[in-house]
Amino acid sequence: MNDALSRLKEIDREIQILGHVSAVLGWDQETYMPERAVEERSDQIAAIQAVLHDKRVSPEIGELLAKLGSTSENPLGETSLPDTDRAFLRVVHRQFMRETKLPKELVMRLAKLTSVGPSRWADARKRDDFPHFAPVLSEILEAVLEVAERLGYEDHPYDALLDDYEPWMRTKKVAQVFGQLQERLVPLVSAIKGSQQVDDSFLMREFPVNVQERFGHQVLAKMGWEYSRGRLDVSAHPFTTTLGADDVRLTTRYDSHNFKSGLFSIVHEAGHGLYELGFSDDIRGTCLANGTSLGIHESQSRTWENIIGRSLPFWRYFYPRLVETNPEYLAQHNLDSFYRAINKVQPSLVRVDADEVTYSLHIILRFNLETRLVRRELSVEDLPEAWREESRKLLGIVPESDATGVLQDIHWSIGAIGYFPTYALGNLYGAQFAAKMRNDIPDLDSALERGEFAVPLEWLRRNIHSHGSALTADELVMKVTGKELDASHFVDYLVKKYRPIYKLTSL
Ligand code: MG
Repeated sequence: MNDALSRLKEIDREIQILGHVSAVLGWDQETYMPERAVEERSDQIAAIQAVLHDKRVSPEIGELLAKLGSTSENPLGETSLPDTDRAFLRVVHRQFMRETKLPKELVMRLAKLTSVGPSRWADARKRDDFPHFAPVLSEILEAVLEVAERLGYEDHPYDALLDDYEPWMRTKKVAQVFGQLQERLVPLVSAIKGSQQVDDSFLMREFPVNVQERFGHQVLAKMGWEYSRGRLDVSAHPFTTTLGADDVRLTTRYDSHNFKSGLFSIVHEAGHGLYELGFSDDIRGTCLANGTSLGIHESQSRTWENIIGRSLPFWRYFYPRLVETNPEYLAQHNLDSFYRAINKVQPSLVRVDADEVTYSLHIILRFNLETRLVRRELSVEDLPEAWREESRKLLGIVPESDATGVLQDIHWSIGAIGYFPTYALGNLYGAQFAAKMRNDIPDLDSALERGEFAVPLEWLRRNIHSHGSALTADELVMKVTGKELDASHFVDYLVKKYRPIYKLTSL
């Protein structure tokens, strides 16, 4: 049994290394690669991906899993093995099953569709012409539905798709927590709309990019970012990627008239990056040294960006330093008006620009449409109208064009159906963890005010990061908070935070 386990670990190690090699190519493509290298680079990435695919579906993995007692009924394998090894078997088993259930023809067809998808989508968005995108989207949807059928599910075809991004999560559970969320968010948003609005126009004044950059690094260093194990660079869209256990890359983008966007992207991505740098040494280099789900990953980025990074104690520490960096920018303002401005709430059409309160409503909208699409209760042709209806119901506003409605996100064009819920789940997990962190560290706010960000970081490392994917998202939430995932923590946090900002008396 020990030989089988060592051999399986050896194969996994090769897979992890090749994955990181592929990530280097991807990171370089988004940051420093000269533009004419695009075609060659996609050949290089495809070549590595082909090698990776062959390794992942190698029959030897199936044989070793069987020897170790890891089956669909019992993915954890032999009970005599240590917990970490059993968790390892569960992750390997899950990945092996997903990879081997899909025929090569289907994988290739989907890859082809999703390589033309984004350019067709971008054209359609530019021309505000949904019918131009609809035929490709229909084909993608058919291929994705075939994937769901091949993978199998118990209740809802969406389960199989969701599971790719949020392992073990089920549509029924998402519908339940989103229902709970919607019920309390809609009245909160309408109470905010009915009160005195916040002025954030001064944040759009010019702020030199080199000064933003300097301040961004100051914040990042203070958050505990280890520059000997990572970097921050610039790309068109901010992202985080892991090139190894001691090499995590963050990116942001700067806009000289939108200070918020560059800075909060850094704080957000650093949340992802700190998670990736915080896995414990005993899972280093293995498939367990990965975020356990996209939702848990997003909980880390959103905790830093919103719960910590947009809090008053955080800015009690950083505001004087920001003023020092650029005295002119904030000359007419004080901490209080700055704090209110960075927390302005306003229902808007575009998800990526949405504030912390309305953001999850954008996700519920997409979840409602996606689940109807995969059940064939809604056709691709009827999507734009269904989008407008949901937008009216959830956000109280209706897009005038499809470019700012149904065509705004790239996800469907790359076949990512089932991905969106993880963003809002991130908000919910994050708030539930943060409530426990506050309980464990009663003087958290004074630590933040003193700039002692190692205090929350150490808590997050110990309770969340160190486990990697040795615990599933469900197990992690239960272990850390003693309860199942529940939307009330997030809404309670919002009400407590926004009541004073908007002087809400009715809540
Ligand atoms: Mg993120």
